[in-house]
Amino acid sequence: MIEEEAALRNGSRGLPPGPWAEAAGPRPRTTERHIAVHKRLVLGFAVSILALLAVTMIAVLLTVRFEECGAAADGPPRAGSNGSLPGAARQPSGAEQPPARPEEEARGREAAEEEEEEEEEWQRRRELPPWARPRLPRHLRPLHYNLMLSAFMENFTFSGEVNVQLEVLNASRYIVLHAHRMHIEAVRVAEDKLAGGVRVARTFFYPQTQVFVVVLNRSLEVQRSYNLKIIYNAIIENDCWLSFFIFVFCFSRFLGVTQFSPTHARKAFPCFDEPIYKATFKISIRHQATYLSLSNMPVETSVFEEDGWVTDHFSQTPLMSTYYLAWAVCNFTYRETVTKSGVVVRLYARPDAIRRGSGDYALNITRRLIEFYEDYFKVPYSLPKLDLLAVPKHPYAAMENWGLSVFVEQRILLDPSISSILYLLDVTMVIVHELCHQWFGDLVTPVWWEDVWLKEGFAHYFEFVGTDYLYPGWNMEKQRFLTDVLHEVMLLDGLASSHPVSQEVQQASDIDRVFDWIAYKKGAALIRMLANFMGHSVFQMGLQDYLTIHKYGNAARNDLWNTLSKALKRVGKSVNIQEVMDQWTLQMGYPVITILGNETTDNIIVISQERFVYDSDAKPKDPARGDNSYLWQIPLTIAVGNTSHISSEAIIWVSNKSEHHRIPALEETSWLLGNINQTGYFRVNYDIRNWRLIINQLTRNHEVISVSNRAGLIDDAFNLARAGYLPQNIPLEIMRYLSQEKDFLPWHAASRALYPLDKLLDRTESYNIFNEYILRQVASMYLKLGWPTNNLNKSLVQASYQHEELRREVIMLACSFGNKHCHQQAATLISDWISSNRNRIPLNVRDIVYCTGVSLMDEDVWEFIWMKFHSTTAVSEKKILLEALTCSDDRNLLNRLLNLSLNSEVVLDQDAIDVIIHVARNPHGRDLAWKFFREKWKILNARYGEALFMNSKLVSGVTEFLNTEAELRELKNFIKSYEGGAAVSFSRAVETVEANVRWQKLYKEELFQWLRKSLTN
Ligand SMILES: [Zn+2]
Repeated sequence: MIEEEAALRNGSRGLPPGPWAEAAGPRPRTTERHIAVHKRLVLGFAVSILALLAVTMIAVLLTVRFEECGAAADGPPRAGSNGSLPGAARQPSGAEQPPARPEEEARGREAAEEEEEEEEEWQRRRELPPWARPRLPRHLRPLHYNLMLSAFMENFTFSGEVNVQLEVLNASRYIVLHAHRMHIEAVRVAEDKLAGGVRVARTFFYPQTQVFVVVLNRSLEVQRSYNLKIIYNAIIENDCWLSFFIFVFCFSRFLGVTQFSPTHARKAFPCFDEPIYKATFKISIRHQATYLSLSNMPVETSVFEEDGWVTDHFSQTPLMSTYYLAWAVCNFTYRETVTKSGVVVRLYARPDAIRRGSGDYALNITRRLIEFYEDYFKVPYSLPKLDLLAVPKHPYAAMENWGLSVFVEQRILLDPSISSILYLLDVTMVIVHELCHQWFGDLVTPVWWEDVWLKEGFAHYFEFVGTDYLYPGWNMEKQRFLTDVLHEVMLLDGLASSHPVSQEVQQASDIDRVFDWIAYKKGAALIRMLANFMGHSVFQMGLQDYLTIHKYGNAARNDLWNTLSKALKRVGKSVNIQEVMDQWTLQMGYPVITILGNETTDNIIVISQERFVYDSDAKPKDPARGDNSYLWQIPLTIAVGNTSHISSEAIIWVSNKSEHHRIPALEETSWLLGNINQTGYFRVNYDIRNWRLIINQLTRNHEVISVSNRAGLIDDAFNLARAGYLPQNIPLEIMRYLSQEKDFLPWHAASRALYPLDKLLDRTESYNIFNEYILRQVASMYLKLGWPTNNLNKSLVQASYQHEELRREVIMLACSFGNKHCHQQAATLISDWISSNRNRIPLNVRDIVYCTGVSLMDEDVWEFIWMKFHSTTAVSEKKILLEALTCSDDRNLLNRLLNLSLNSEVVLDQDAIDVIIHVARNPHGRDLAWKFFREKWKILNARYGEALFMNSKLVSGVTEFLNTEAELRELKNFIKSYEGGAAVSFSRAVETVEANVRWQKLYKEELFQWLRKSLTN
């Protein structure tokens, strides 16, 4: 699963919640006041007024058309208080009359008394009754489900009948299974092979644990199998993030699609809704013949009725977990392709998108990726088909349902003529991610949610490996992984309020919490460290064994560690992987290694480790455990370099607080480098002498140090300084070599590391000095690279990715920090667009140009972009136009935008949060967004409160750059008075703001002093 933002990798693209410090590249802002709008532009404006009017007319028409694909206007109606539903009358034909009629409201006094007695009995035994335990009791196991559903698209209801074949492991009078917010019509229990029924004494819901309990007159016998039949109606909520069934009105019809992960299957049908209860499923869906239905498996037969209804019977699934089950009812069309091994891949989308070919790119890479994974894992794709369904609205970016993966349109449809490389990369990586899940997740499923990082970490790591397969020159795993995953998550995991990657979780309501950046990104970073210290080919062999052993089953992290240890043993290496990895997965945070050259004894260095935290004053989350007790077994790779040469790397396992090691060939001028190619999940610090030698090396001949280490040194230095481990001038001195740097990654690392520093300084009096310093570092490379020409006719896939990305990064820095030429260029391009009404702005820099234009030019440009936002139907374009509107310096416009953001008809629910966060990043809008957030908290919390990842993204996005004492007080006061959840997000926010305030107090002046001196030299 990918959360709505989780797919995004960098720059102006966000990532999931958290200080989910979606480290967007610095936003264009001007240090001059508004540069006057070019005279020619004014003229152009006048000339184009008529054209504009015409465009507006078309825009209005298009808007109407586009909004046809919005959410169902009124949403599905809620069930009446008596629980009866409009669709309930239409029972699937052949439903037998139930022997017992359940239900709370109908339950007599007698039943209530019985229940009380029963509760007392459990109390006497000092045990929780089986229905009150957070996990299902283990005495029953579902083997097979027959599920017959009727979908009533007109009134958004479902009725269904489920038959579960149960195996009895321990005798019991109770059947406890999940069922939540549904209306149960009838229950029947029968012994499977003998026809005899088992009398149901009573049934009841126990909402606290979201279960339904069937109490029988006699015990079910061990090792017999029984059939449980339940006839029910599903209640569908009008809430995209809560509902198991999402309705969207699209092309004059409704589209309905399920989302069961993590705990919504229990709202769609009574089931054993824990990942460990794998079973086979046979699904039938009855619907109007004007729609088509999809599910995990292909349709086996369709039975048409005279009244215009049809029942699709799907083939039986292999053993699988309930949360990967899916179905959809829609009127979409598709294109199809077939893999070498005969898997039929279809992409379903709205008919106009299919006609335009917007799904062809996804379809094509999906075929290639299935072939790649089959070869890499040596385990064939398990189902006969894979459908990719593109939907206009979805709570997540994508969901990897087995054989029927669902994607929000922005993450799968791509129109090559108007998509940037970033957008292409985004779409690609989401697809690579979901396809990896067909193995890591669907086929082998984590035993329980605490190890969700097992599936998400792998899928995230493979985004880079799989993209390297599609685009071999892009070096994603070796390079881009660093900035987009490693550096990103170390920001979050460096907070004292972080948590371990394996998180204990019991309650259903808490399960959403485990899908966070730590699970995705730290999981991926740990897997990459493991792959590197094992060696990639042994690692791959180990994964093949792991998938082969556990396919169609569940596995916990220890199963993985054991398989990988065995694989290592086979090549003659002995490492206890479980012992090593437990320290990384069960402890929060990560270490900083300090390497000190020992001045008295030759060739001896001292290596020490401690937990890295941004704010050493922050209270540890677990006060019983001080930071001092954190220890890791660290695979530290190390190399020695001098002016023109670097040694090959050696690996040192560091497991103590402090250790002495002998390094041969250490000379006066040689420097040490730790964490070669930044494969490890930790930071490295050195004595100042070594930092100076490294800076010298970078300035003289940076290519002696690898590209990934150059990026790693930049990120480590900036963050070590931010946390006070290193003087503030060191990172700024390292940056100086960038004027010679022709590789993209170090620039990207610098740009991302500068971003939080920029936000700490952007409202200070001396900001200009900082600004001036950065501009100087960027100027020569900006001149050298220039601007891209319009590449509308070139295939962006063939464009040189590294070069284009580097140019983009440098232009972004130049425009952000106020390079005059960059501003002029952006203004000219916008003026040309307005006057000619032809958008000739190169695709790869459109977001930068739009944002710069809006921030520099007058209100008319804002209005023009606003109009374009309404009129465009291209999803990628819509997003960057909306974000550009947040770049204005005009507080009235920013306020207007904030107020419009909550109007669902103007801004999609999932985009509103981005608007607020982007305004908060703008120094002119930070206080406005913060104020707006506090005033509208009730509305925002009602809207996003249950969707933890959205809420946490919002809270951190609005607060992460607050940095004054006054703002910290406001935050604390707000927390005292607010109502609603998000406690974890708020405690993280307080720690972040405290660290910001502390930095201002301790280090700001030190930084400015050095900058002043440096600029006058
Ligand atoms: Zn995922």
